[in-house]
Amino acid sequence: MSTAHASSSALHPATLCIHAGWRATPERKDVVLPIAQAATFLLDDASYAAMLEGRIDEAEIYTRLGNPTLDAVQTKLAALEGAEHALLFASGMAAIHAALLSRVRTGSRVVAQKELYGSAWDLLENFLRPLGVATEFVELNDPAARKAALAQGCDVVYCESVSNPTLAVADLPAIAKEARAAGAVTIVDATFATPLLQKPLELGADLVVHSATKYLAGHSDVIGGVVLGSRERLKPVYRWLQLAGGCMDPHAAFLLDRGLKTLPLRMKAHVENACELARFFGRHPKVERVLYPGLESHPSHGRARTLLAGPGGMVSCVVRGGDAAALACLRRLKLALEASSLGGAETLVSAPFNTSHARLSPAQRAAAGIPPGFLRISAGIEDARDLVRDFEQALAG
Ligand SMILES: *Cc1c(COP(=O)(O)O)cnc(C)c1O
Repeated sequence: MSTAHASSSALHPATLCIHAGWRATPERKDVVLPIAQAATFLLDDASYAAMLEGRIDEAEIYTRLGNPTLDAVQTKLAALEGAEHALLFASGMAAIHAALLSRVRTGSRVVAQKELYGSAWDLLENFLRPLGVATEFVELNDPAARKAALAQGCDVVYCESVSNPTLAVADLPAIAKEARAAGAVTIVDATFATPLLQKPLELGADLVVHSATKYLAGHSDVIGGVVLGSRERLKPVYRWLQLAGGCMDPHAAFLLDRGLKTLPLRMKAHVENACELARFFGRHPKVERVLYPGLESHPSHGRARTLLAGPGGMVSCVVRGGDAAALACLRRLKLALEASSLGGAETLVSAPFNTSHARLSPAQRAAAGIPPGFLRISAGIEDARDLVRDFEQALAG
């Protein structure tokens, strides 16, 4: 199967989302990406040599090492992110694991953002630390804290472009520049922003990871992850993919490709709905505080304006009356669903106190910027008027 690569960087994202990666040809007339549902492929010397030499998009030998369906989606994602190449994984965590392990050894030092996706924190703290990889968690947006942490030596700086659940926007240009000066590579989890709102590689990051489960696939029906960067930086990531084996399934890659086609349309609707909800929460008496980078009241508003092409589809708010009141409000919702995850067509709401931050004490949560009553909302793509009405009746109850 030949994958014609529509890789012209002159094309705009909405066009790349449709046409990059796969094009029908007179030899293979499928208008949409065919699923190469095969574990193994006819072997030839060229593809075997490509695998050995780490030429990752030519090694279509065995699906853990390379598969034409995955290759087409990797090409599309690389074009969107402005990366030389991409590698798909079975989940966002498999991608994060491979990206980190491609750079650290026993004795390495990682400087990570204090506020991280829970499983990424767990991986660094409870899996890599016992193996001799020390991670210091710091407030990376604080120039003094960053400087002090980097001054002690650093191999990897790890952060999220927009943090969960307080939606702080990372000062990536400064972080990546200082990391490079300290001899470290910067790995950015860009799941919340997507390549449509920010391209971290252009801001100095060395590797980008996404949970493709979220906005990229966009329909809450597939788990996946991706690591993007230069071919050189991806070579050791590819080794981890080969050896740890967390490859994406070809059918999942097909679903991801199908989701990507509508990413620009969906993202526009997510952002519009998040803006509407943020404005609604801002004027509701039962809401103590709204956290949305699109609002001037958000601490990262300035950075959101300069570093992001839009304020994103996530909104957090603090309901008056504490966690019990927030949970009661959440459970009165008739359209929005109580579930973890984000970036799907349906609006999802979760309370950090009983999900992502359940292991922290109330005091630790407050220190992490999560006071009692906190709700995290992933705005879906429903009609905003229906969403507002749903939250109105839930808050009134
Ligand atoms: C969901 C998520 C992950 C993990 O991705 P999975 O696909 O669930 O493994 C990592 N980072 C962020 C920011 C996420 O939201």
